[in-house]
Formats: sequence, structure tokens, C-alpha cells
Amino acid sequence: MTDPIRFGIVGSPSETPKPGGTERAIQYMREELGFDHLEIAWVQSVRVSDETCARIKAASETHDITLSVHAPYFINLNSQTADLMAKSDARLLAAARKGYLAGARDIVFHPGSYHEQPEGQVFARVKEKLLELTGILREEGVDVTLRPETMGKPAMFGSADELIQLSKEVPGVLPCFDIAHLHARTEGAYNTYEEYAGIFKAVEAVLGRPALERMHFHLSGIEYGPRGEKKHLPLHEADINYRAFLQALVDFGGARRGGRRSARRVPRARCAPVPAGVPGDAGGAQGGVMAHTWTLNNPSDEGARKLIRARLRAFNRAVMPDAFNGRLEPPDWGAFEIVVRDEAGAVIAGVTAKTYWGCMHVGYLWVDESLRGQGIGAQLMDRAEAEARARGCRWAWLTTYDFQAPGFYRKRGYRVVGQQDDYPPGHTYYTMRKDL
Ligand SMILES: [Zn+2]
Repeated sequence: MTDPIRFGIVGSPSETPKPGGTERAIQYMREELGFDHLEIAWVQSVRVSDETCARIKAASETHDITLSVHAPYFINLNSQTADLMAKSDARLLAAARKGYLAGARDIVFHPGSYHEQPEGQVFARVKEKLLELTGILREEGVDVTLRPETMGKPAMFGSADELIQLSKEVPGVLPCFDIAHLHARTEGAYNTYEEYAGIFKAVEAVLGRPALERMHFHLSGIEYGPRGEKKHLPLHEADINYRAFLQALVDFGGARRGGRRSARRVPRARCAPVPAGVPGDAGGAQGGVMAHTWTLNNPSDEGARKLIRARLRAFNRAVMPDAFNGRLEPPDWGAFEIVVRDEAGAVIAGVTAKTYWGCMHVGYLWVDESLRGQGIGAQLMDRAEAEARARGCRWAWLTTYDFQAPGFYRKRGYRVVGQQDDYPPGHTYYTMRKDL
């Protein structure tokens, strides 16, 4: 069974809450950004203790964020002096060893320069070097895949073909395809669906199905010239056809999406968040093992509220990843509005709704007082329900107070499925539902 496609970024997000660090970044990426992978950017050097690695590993398991490492930039498998070569080796080995301790299984690195030597000669040297380094790691029990990255300049070793061939000849090596680098290296190729599909086909043909199911990409925009890469750019500022790439990714890498695997790790029991109202929750101190501190926050503490909400959401995601992944949360929660304006452009009526799980939730329906009784509300509901049906929704629901419009909704086929009396005092609050 294959892992679902995972998305992440290289390096901790700059907005990671203080005091920052990889552990915080992992939590923040999962709970606030909805990512499920992080490439740890040890790009200057690898300076991290074994204890920190253990904490990163625990955080990644708790939050179901898989990890890779981007090794230091100063690696060159074709170094030209013994001293430089030894330093380069040490950097790659350190990234692999510490990355393994941190729970990463893929170590991405820039393989090196041709130094204007013949391509075949450089390939042979890089291959020899990788056989040596993977041998050392294997002996130490460091079970990682070394992933040389496709490079953005034609003067650098690392075309797609070179890395695929290298992976065939060296066990424990697989490519990291940096799409922007390939695009820049070739002065504008790797920009169509067919070219992207070709990468997947080549991997399957040369390296087989297991490699196809474990592909690793970098995707960004890029500025380039005759000598290749100049600088990376945000996707929307660049000419890279990322939609075509994502389509190829879905077609070739995500064909087995139905097999979203069961091995998706659930947070370990020690840290497992407990949903409100579950019997036997973690607050019970009867065991007398630990002295718990109970606090009533009055006034309320926004940080505590956010934390509790985030923990419950993490629980939801761990138990039902398909239903509670990032796509189903704000702002991509299937929200839409229908807005009515007068001739001057002023908004005079509108309805807000969102669709998810095959239903529509109607948020707010409002018509300017001067225009009530003209059927505008009914038309808004007609249009919202039509949109919901077009999105494949089977039913709709909403809430309304007795002093609002339960009669209006009843006439439209909504029936009361929930009722809170004396809420607010003297009034009733209804939950209503209709099959579409
Ligand atoms: Zn890189």
C-alpha cells in the first residue's frame, strides 16, 4: 500500500511561534498550515544534539509529519582535493546520521560540480563515492535513502537522466527531482504535462514500481538564463507550469489514492489528545501517579483556547484523516456566497454557505429591510441549493431562531431536527435540514 501524496516545505515556516525550532515548526505546520511533510533545512551545517533529534522524531510522530533532511550546500562528490573531499563526506554522513536519529528517511543533497570534466568521468566518480558512503551508513545501521537533487545549472552534475541511472547503479540512492532546477537547467523544458509524465515513466521503467511509489520533488518558480538558474521565485511569479506538474503527480503518483493507508500513525497514547466528553479522559487523577494542576482561567486565556482547539483538531485528523485533512478546513472549506446588489452597486441581500461531506451548511441569509416580501430570499435559497446540488451535495442544513424565519424554511422543505428552547430566554433556536 502506498503512502498518500504528502506536501510540505523546506525549512521551518518563518511564522513558527516562539521559541521556534523544528519541533514547534512541526506542530505549527500540522495544526495551522495543514502540511504533512517537512524537509529539515540543515543547509549551512549539521549542528544538532542527539537529544534534539529524539525530540524532533517524537514531534513528527505525534503530529504525523514525515521528515526529510536537506543536507549542507557545501557538498561536492567531485571535490578536487583530498581535504575538500573529506569535508564533503563528513557533511553528508552527518546529515544522514542525525537525520536518521530525527526520524528522517530521505537525505537530499546537491551532488556536485563537473569542474568542466567529461560527464562520464564525473558520473563514475560520483557513483564510486556514493557506493562508499552508502556502504558506511549501511554498516552503521543508518537506514536512509540518499537523494541527489537535480541541479539548476548545466555546469553542475545532476540531470534527470544522470540521477536516474545513478540510482539504478547504487542501492540506497534515489533522485530528488527539483522541477524548477530541471526547467532552468534546460532553459525552459520540463514545462509540459508530457515532460513531467516522462519523469514518472522513466523512473518506473529504470527503477521500477517501488521507486515510483517513493518519489521526492521540490517545486517552486525560478528565474533562469543561458547558464541556468538565477534565483528561485514564488510559483505565481514564474513561468513554471505547476498545474501540469500537479496533474502528472496525481495521475502517476496518486493513482492509488483510494489506498490512503491505514498505517498513518495515530499519536502515541502518552500524548494522545482526548476529545471533549470522552469517558475516562486524561484529567482523572485517581491513579495518583501524577499530581495534576487544575486551573480556571477567568478571564479567559486565548492561548489555552487555541491549544485545546488545536489538540482536538489533531485528534480528529488522526482518527479520520480523509475527512479532516487541510482541504476541508478554512479557508478552503468549500465556501461560497451569493450577493445581490442594486444599480449603484450597494449590497442589498446575500446568502453565505459552505459545502463539505456531501452537504451544504447555510451560514447567513440576509435581505435589506426595504426589500423583504419580494421573493429575494427565496431566490437566494434556490440558487444556493442549485450550487450545492451542482457540487454533489445530497442535503442542506441551517440554524434559525423563532424570531427569524423557521416558517420560511419550512415552506422550502426544511424540517426541524433539533430544538433549543429558551435560547435566548423566551425564544427557541432550531436546527433544520432538507434533502436536496
Ligand atoms: Zn536543494
